[in-house]
Amino acid sequence: MKLSCDVVVVGGGHAGVEAAAAAARSGVRTLLITPDLGRVAQMSCNPAIGGVAKGVVAREVDALGGIMGRATDAARIQFRMLNRSKGPAVWGPRAQCDRALYVLAVRRLLEELPGLELLQDMVSDVVVDGRRAVGVRTRSGAEVEARAVVITAGTFLRGRIHVGADTGVGAGRAGEAPSVELAEGLGSLLEVARFKTGTPPRVDGRTVRLEELQRQDGDETPFRFAAYAAEAVPEQRPCWITWAGEDLKRVVRENLGRSALYGGSISGKGPRYCPSIEDKIVRFPDAPRHQVILEPEGLHTTELYVNGLSTSLPADVQMAFLRTLPGLEDVHMTRVGYAIEYDYFPPHQLRHTLETRVVAGLFLAGQVNGTTGYEEAAGQGVVAGINAALQVKGEEPFVLERDQAYIGVLVDDLVSRGVDEPYRLFTSRAEFRLLLRQDNAPRRLGPLARDRGMLTADQERALTRRLAAEERVLVWFRETWLPTRAVAGPAEPSDATPEPGSAPAAELLRRPGVRAEDLVKAGGATMPEVPEDVLAAVEVEVKYEGYVMRERERAMRVRKHANIKLANDLPYLGFVTLSFEAREKLQRIRPETLAQAGRIPGVSPADLQNLILEVRRWRAQLSSDGATAAGG
Ligand SMILES: Cc1cc2nc3c(=O)[nH]c(=O)nc-3n(C[C@H](O)[C@H](O)[C@H](O)COP(=O)(O)OP(=O)(O)OC[C@H]3O[C@@H](n4cnc5c(N)ncnc54)[C@H](O)[C@@H]3O)c2cc1C
Repeated sequence: MKLSCDVVVVGGGHAGVEAAAAAARSGVRTLLITPDLGRVAQMSCNPAIGGVAKGVVAREVDALGGIMGRATDAARIQFRMLNRSKGPAVWGPRAQCDRALYVLAVRRLLEELPGLELLQDMVSDVVVDGRRAVGVRTRSGAEVEARAVVITAGTFLRGRIHVGADTGVGAGRAGEAPSVELAEGLGSLLEVARFKTGTPPRVDGRTVRLEELQRQDGDETPFRFAAYAAEAVPEQRPCWITWAGEDLKRVVRENLGRSALYGGSISGKGPRYCPSIEDKIVRFPDAPRHQVILEPEGLHTTELYVNGLSTSLPADVQMAFLRTLPGLEDVHMTRVGYAIEYDYFPPHQLRHTLETRVVAGLFLAGQVNGTTGYEEAAGQGVVAGINAALQVKGEEPFVLERDQAYIGVLVDDLVSRGVDEPYRLFTSRAEFRLLLRQDNAPRRLGPLARDRGMLTADQERALTRRLAAEERVLVWFRETWLPTRAVAGPAEPSDATPEPGSAPAAELLRRPGVRAEDLVKAGGATMPEVPEDVLAAVEVEVKYEGYVMRERERAMRVRKHANIKLANDLPYLGFVTLSFEAREKLQRIRPETLAQAGRIPGVSPADLQNLILEVRRWRAQLSSDGATAAGG
């Protein structure tokens, strides 16, 4: 079978579905190939989207027109805004999802997109002509001609799963075949390394004494991840908290030698911030107990995900340690936990568009770039998908800067710093947290997406409505004067003309403890009626205006540096005034700007100063050589 398209996306995980959707939305003919169309965007591990930093990424993917936000709304069975007691710069929306509903929603949203075709198959090879990717071949014999190829094969590349020591079997996820031929083909083009991760066992909720456990309900405040469309939100469900104590520690310690992680069966490095229970007990021997959260897998199943007990111990040990948990003394384990190791491609091989440097038209996104997490994968998927499409259309690339999006931070970290363990996003990775909030994602990114043709007509209309509503309330806050006695608390100094006994609503909102809702009808001036999420976004923008402005100015100063471009053919190794480490790293990474060079570990401020001088000398030398050649 011969097929042809503009962009072919390999793999229908979180990165793949967003890459395919982004390319299709931007109007190029797109084909998504994945081995099981019934499992698109399958959550391999915990059934939840979002969290601190990750929740902002989910909102950013949505603001760029992606599908993660809508699918989460359609599947969420519990919602909580994490960090609400802290400043809004670090709030993290998180939704517990019905695993099956999530997959169904993603499939529906993909099928709504004109220009996107789906094919159930396994890609065995990328076809390369010279140094350009021109298509793929599949196991069932399809030959697909394409102008750009996006690889998003997740944990499947030479994937090997372990349940106990010496038990490794080839698999991409439990019950799913690994991707070996594709890994071998790509391995001949790119540098390859190996990482590992793990998942906990699942249990049957009917065999847990839930009434003895601490119940955790979601927030009552309504919240939607999606800014451009409203999905019907399903019934809500609680989670349950229990604790792993001394008995569990003893079982794990006695069996450490039978763990794949500690028995020497796994070589890859794992995520430091998502450790297995073996890791926790070895690394924190004095911690008296570890929290375990039982999370519902869905509305129509009693199965529970045992968050906090990721493991590579054998099944009998897993059963034994589960039964030490209060409330789980008679538990039935429905699925065993396991560890998985897989190939990834160290991301210094990529440009900021996520195109590989060595093969033009070949883009990589998601776990294959050394990251971990659904949201990290989805964010990269959007970047790779849109850039593949823009390349096909002959248009300028789409690169998000570090002050524009967490996705910009993520991609820049990958490309500039590389990874030495599975990369996960944290708020601490972003320099401009107050700009990169979850509430302002549509305002930050919606217009950029619209201008680059990444939104559908419906999404564009919804964005226009939303921005207009935000503007109406912003203007109201700035221009409406209210009696100061309408709210309690000391006023902040005002630059506006003083009017005895009254102040702009914006100023009143900045008083400690005052909420936008307190001002809705204060002093008889009625605020324009807008959706709650719009009001919440404007509230934060107004309340923190001074800080936000200062951060914006700082970002502008950093940008000036960022704009100094570095040519791709600079002979870094010959720049002898730089340290050897700096020369080597610059030669390998080939940063696109001076700012990116400055973020490379090992490149010091002194190296940067010398780099500017070396580049000037090199340029002068080039033009004098050119002049001599022309004169001779
Ligand atoms: C056991 C396990 C535990 C995990 N634990 C955690 C955790 O605790 N925390 C966390 O944040 N993340 C965890 N993850 C990682 C998380 O699942 C991934 O980060 C996320 O799914 C990555 O998305 P992706 O799109 O890159 O890849 P995936 O979701 O893995 O999707 C890859 C897709 O590519 C398809 N594919 C593979 N090979 C081919 C081929 N040759 N042709 C066509 N299609 C192909 C697959 O079928 C799949 O649909 C875990 C993953 C696993 C497997």
